Amino acid sequence: MVKFYNSLSRRKEEVTCDENKRVKMYSCGPTVYYYPHIGNFRAYLFMDNIRRVLKFNGFQLDGVMNITDVGHLTSDADEGEDKMLVASQREHKTPWEIAKFYTNIFMTDAKKLNIDLPEHIVPATSVVDEMIEFVQALLDNGYAYETSKGIYFDIQKFPEYGRLSGMDINEKLAGARIDVDEEKHTPYDFVLWVKAPKQHIMQWQSPWGMGYPGWHIECSVIGDKFLGEHIDIHTGGVDHKPVHHENEIAQSNCRYAHEVVKTWMHVEFLQVDGGKMSKSLNNIYRIADLEQRGFTAEDFRFFYFLAHYSKQHNFTFEALEMAKNTLKSIKNLAKEHKNGSHSVNTSKFEEEFLQSINDDLNMPKAIACVQKMLKEERSRDVYNALMKFNQVLGLNFEETEEIPDNIKAKAEARWLAKQNRDFAAADALRNEISSLGYEIKDAKDGYEILKN
Ligand code: AMP
Ligand code: ZN
Repeated sequence: MVKFYNSLSRRKEEVTCDENKRVKMYSCGPTVYYYPHIGNFRAYLFMDNIRRVLKFNGFQLDGVMNITDVGHLTSDADEGEDKMLVASQREHKTPWEIAKFYTNIFMTDAKKLNIDLPEHIVPATSVVDEMIEFVQALLDNGYAYETSKGIYFDIQKFPEYGRLSGMDINEKLAGARIDVDEEKHTPYDFVLWVKAPKQHIMQWQSPWGMGYPGWHIECSVIGDKFLGEHIDIHTGGVDHKPVHHENEIAQSNCRYAHEVVKTWMHVEFLQVDGGKMSKSLNNIYRIADLEQRGFTAEDFRFFYFLAHYSKQHNFTFEALEMAKNTLKSIKNLAKEHKNGSHSVNTSKFEEEFLQSINDDLNMPKAIACVQKMLKEERSRDVYNALMKFNQVLGLNFEETEEIPDNIKAKAEARWLAKQNRDFAAADALRNEISSLGYEIKDAKDGYEILKN
């Protein structure tokens, strides 16, 4: 039985699905205005972790993730400028070019991390009509109101507001100061649709004039469009709990007059050197920064497993180095087991692994179980069990061995000889490389070295 902690009920609960064992899962996706950092990727490794654990248990996934390419203001609570516009001014590109560029980078890094991506990845700008329709429905049912600036959700119409993050909205309202915007009924009313000034680059026609959607509405709408009005799991970082997810719950539950999401799951923050990642500390790392220091995306993937998602995880390069070494030793042992001749009964490890992952994704315990199993006598049975576990771990045990430096140097010399049309020298080097057990395969603009 798979049990996950539900941030809404504050209990571990059995996962729900439809009659075909299909789990509908929504994940808040990236805002594509800048390079994604390793903290963001903790959130997507968390998503990957849930997906793979469910698949391991025989569930099917119907997953959706949005790409925020409009409407996310510099503060989650509707203040500041649209992050996409800020980026567009910074880089002298259109918001669409910005979105394309950073979405590509996100996808490339996600691929390097071997993240099992959702079945549907949906940019907010592709569902503007549906967002307008959703906002109109909230207006029609009296949950929203129009001001000179836009359409706002009236949180007094949803007395349960604040349930997820444990805030008492009545208490907050009683103590609240008057909002700078006097047209709003309460300071906690949030924007659904913004009426755009003429010079605003991204804007669409709507029943309320030209404008653009607020950030929160996109997740309710994309979830609704691709998964319907009953969603099993919704994921995001803990920072989304108090504003973004409260707002999503308010919009969706009012639209459908029932609880739309069953289980809310939140991943705690990745800290760096014990503190927040921030520009001023110059400690916002990307996957490319790790690579520059000799680590791989896979090292970071393995690092993710070493802390429970509900706890803050402190990133340091020392800790990443330790993760890298542990991963290396696991791979070496795997190789030994692959060629092992003993017979080992792995069932107790299989039970422990399953029990760990199914107990709210206890990955540190699952990794400890893998390490215990690898201490057994060298056996193909252990290797086979590891390969089964790898459906969840998503590590690369098939990688080719590192090409020795002398072979690389000879291959480079051969390439240069060939460029210089010195084919005799090139052939001689190819033969030499071949006699050392490697083969050169020429490609369009380079070559590949393969082990024979
Ligand atoms: P954003 O692109 O800013 O909308 O964030 C994308 C995702 O990354 C969200 O789910 C955030 O909650 C999450 N996130 C941002 N910073 C961190 C961090 N340091 N650790 C874990 N998750 C984070
Ligand atoms: Zn969202």
